[in-house]
Amino acid sequence: MKAAVLTGPNRIETVDGWPEPDCGPHDVIVRMEGVGLCGTDLAVFHGTRLPPVTPWVMGHEGFGRIAAVGSAVRDRQVGQRVVIEPNYACLACPDCRSGLTSACPHRAIVGLNAPGVLAERAALPARFAHPVPDGPTGADLAATEPYAVARAAVRRSGVTPADRCLVVGAGAQGLLVCLILARLGIRPVVTEPHPQRLARAERLGATPDDGGTGYTYVFETSGHAPALRPAVERAAPGATIVLIGLNPHALPLTTDDVVRRQLVLRGSMIYDHPGDFATAIAELPGARPSAVVEARFPIEEAQQAFTGAADRAGKTWIGIGDQDA
Ligand SMILES: [Zn+2]
Ligand SMILES: [Zn+2]
Repeated sequence: MKAAVLTGPNRIETVDGWPEPDCGPHDVIVRMEGVGLCGTDLAVFHGTRLPPVTPWVMGHEGFGRIAAVGSAVRDRQVGQRVVIEPNYACLACPDCRSGLTSACPHRAIVGLNAPGVLAERAALPARFAHPVPDGPTGADLAATEPYAVARAAVRRSGVTPADRCLVVGAGAQGLLVCLILARLGIRPVVTEPHPQRLARAERLGATPDDGGTGYTYVFETSGHAPALRPAVERAAPGATIVLIGLNPHALPLTTDDVVRRQLVLRGSMIYDHPGDFATAIAELPGARPSAVVEARFPIEEAQQAFTGAADRAGKTWIGIGDQDA
């Protein structure tokens, strides 16, 4: 089968003859139709996050149709269209049992420590293949996993329609946070240097930054440490700062800042199984996360898709096979 594999930094090859996946008794085989690209994939592509081996199958934001079910699977059928929840928590450790599967130390992370799904077929545990309703397009399904990430951040934040929200960054996560807040009746203010990303955020219901203050919620999605300090200075006393973007550097904040202004710092990592993904899928027909998608490439052009992804104003995804976009 075809697969898009990383062979070295900044080098992806679409190969033929990649080994077919094995279907375990609790697994399904998905005939893949598309895979979205995000910053994590680009970090692997650029060599800042190293895969366990090369060549390495890329991609984690995938969807397709079930082509086979394992002998012990009772609640999935061949032909169902599914979106993959690409973090396979163990569901047995104390974190998983407490409901915080996002903190599972045994989590298989597709595309990082488990092989990716940017291939014609992929095997995965059946419970992480979520059937989707009719109606959403391929672009909606390619954006469902990042939608679940943004949706979980909004859920965990506790934001209400009465809050004043500042969203830092209008990459895919920032755009999705804007879309979700707008659906809750909030008109977020967004800071973003890239004019086309800013325009996209405005189309989703956000307003451009006017230098105002008094925000009760700040959603930091850029992962760019210098962007955080000015945003926090504009937050109201007692505000909640939700951190979604990942960054290894120390925060440009002091204990004084947090204590005197009584800020709440709230990190949000992916989503918790199974509720957050189920919510995302239930909301798909109304939310239409394809609003953050810009470009589609065929798997044969995976190299071009990855090479330009960081510069595009919207999300890039890769189509596999000949289904409609
Ligand atoms: Zn992603
Ligand atoms: Zn666990």
